Amino acid sequence: MATRSLVWFRSDLRTVDNASLAAAAAERCAGGVVGLYVISPGDWKRHEVSPNRVAYILGSLAELSGHLAKLNIPLLIRTAATPAKVAGVVAQVAKEVEAENVHAGIEYEINEAARDAATATALGKQGGKLQLHHDQVILTPGTVLTGSDKPYTVFTPFKNNWFKVLAASGGVRTLPAVKAQPQTGLVSDAVPEKVAGFEPLCDGSFFAPGQTAAHKRLTEFVQSRLSGYKANRDTPSVPGTSRLSAALASGVISPRVCLQMAAEANGGKLDGGDLGAQTWISELVWREFYKHVLEAFPRVCMNRAFKPGWDRVKWIDNAEWLEAWKRGRTGYPIVDAAQRQLLATGWMHNRLRMITAMFFTKDLLADWRLGESHFMRHLVDGDLSANNGGWQWSAGVGTDAAPYFRIFNPTTQSEKFDPQGTFIRKYVPELAELDAKTIHDPPPLVRMRLNYPMPIVDHGEARERTLKAYKAAAVS
Ligand SMILES: Cc1cc2nc3c(=O)[nH]c(=O)nc-3n(C[C@H](O)[C@H](O)[C@H](O)COP(=O)(O)OP(=O)(O)OC[C@H]3O[C@@H](n4cnc5c(N)ncnc54)[C@H](O)[C@@H]3O)c2cc1C
Repeated sequence: MATRSLVWFRSDLRTVDNASLAAAAAERCAGGVVGLYVISPGDWKRHEVSPNRVAYILGSLAELSGHLAKLNIPLLIRTAATPAKVAGVVAQVAKEVEAENVHAGIEYEINEAARDAATATALGKQGGKLQLHHDQVILTPGTVLTGSDKPYTVFTPFKNNWFKVLAASGGVRTLPAVKAQPQTGLVSDAVPEKVAGFEPLCDGSFFAPGQTAAHKRLTEFVQSRLSGYKANRDTPSVPGTSRLSAALASGVISPRVCLQMAAEANGGKLDGGDLGAQTWISELVWREFYKHVLEAFPRVCMNRAFKPGWDRVKWIDNAEWLEAWKRGRTGYPIVDAAQRQLLATGWMHNRLRMITAMFFTKDLLADWRLGESHFMRHLVDGDLSANNGGWQWSAGVGTDAAPYFRIFNPTTQSEKFDPQGTFIRKYVPELAELDAKTIHDPPPLVRMRLNYPMPIVDHGEARERTLKAYKAAAVS
């Protein structure tokens, strides 16, 4: 009989509605439950986890440690010198604390699956077991399939069936709160405030870490902004969205809790009812969709286009354009405001992610993988499935049902979604004095006076160039 049970926290940095924690507690080991987090800078580097996200993770871990302490669960922190050493570190800790079962939430990416296989082997050698739990998504990948048992490749039919499968499974249910566990006699480790090589790029004030802040944000959003979500979600200058993405990406809040609270506010309905609630729930399903896609089509984890033919597009490799885009100096005010929001806060509004990713791939004809990587290196909510899905969608090489010749005009997008130029003024202060008409595309002399660059490409010409390049890839 094992003395203790071990929970290995990874992308589930919470005590509320955590399947691994609940399973460990249910073992009722006399020696109690122990928590473990393995800091693996090598994994963060190879997955381009941004320093902003690392800061958020460390802050959330510190808070988690406090919540666990109230349950008599110590949180041990270990560091793996290389990704290959993670399995050995976990097995060693399991041995030290005399735990047979190690519980963890499944991560669907390829490297993570390989790491878990190695850990299961290492534990097996000492008579232990790795028990994996589906906890990142509401419905397990592989359970929402087409009539011919195939994974969906288009969102809307996926969503329609997702609702049906959820209803058939009894609807969304969260787990009961874990009760205080027997004392372990072990002491928690201090959570480091920083990890060398991951110094935050911005001050982090945009995202308070930890589950308490995330639940507060959810409650506040549902009470005051959910019903206006559909109307406000596309306006970057207003706080119309939940800004829960960092918490969801690191598992600081459970997607079941989010869905349940939104459904309750919508009179128990998931589909239908209040338009705002309906639309927000649909975004939670987009999150699920991209995780299901990643699990079913691992090639998207391997730098490949979801639609393989589109790997043939001849991208333009222009270092100056790339640098201008990264720094927010493209000469397209809405694109520059978006890029500067990312640099300043580690987050970017969804409408802007679409505009700037579309500009990158269609106006600059730059390889979407470079944009995807820049986003990951800065985003506090960087998530492989959603980021990759968003970039492939924007490049027209992914699961999107629309053809590649959907190309946004950045100036008309700007006029539509930031009509007064409020958002541009905030992040491109050199244009602050311009009126609502001029700010979206200032005349050349005004640009010179304000030291704001001329557009690095002409949208009309760029559009034609891109259509040709995609057509050539389609026929070759
Ligand atoms: C090019 C591009 C890259 C993106 N990269 C990421 C990323 O790395 N991480 C990430 O979480 N989202 C990503 N998204 C999706 C989306 O932009 C963010 O989830 C959203 O802006 C987060 O803000 P919010 O929490 O206020 O969202 P809300 O509008 O409040 O939505 C609630 C939640 O639903 C999920 N969600 C919303 N939209 C999407 C979507 N299109 N795809 C998947 N999940 C979604 C998120 O978890 C979000 O927190 C990307 C989108 C694009 C176009």
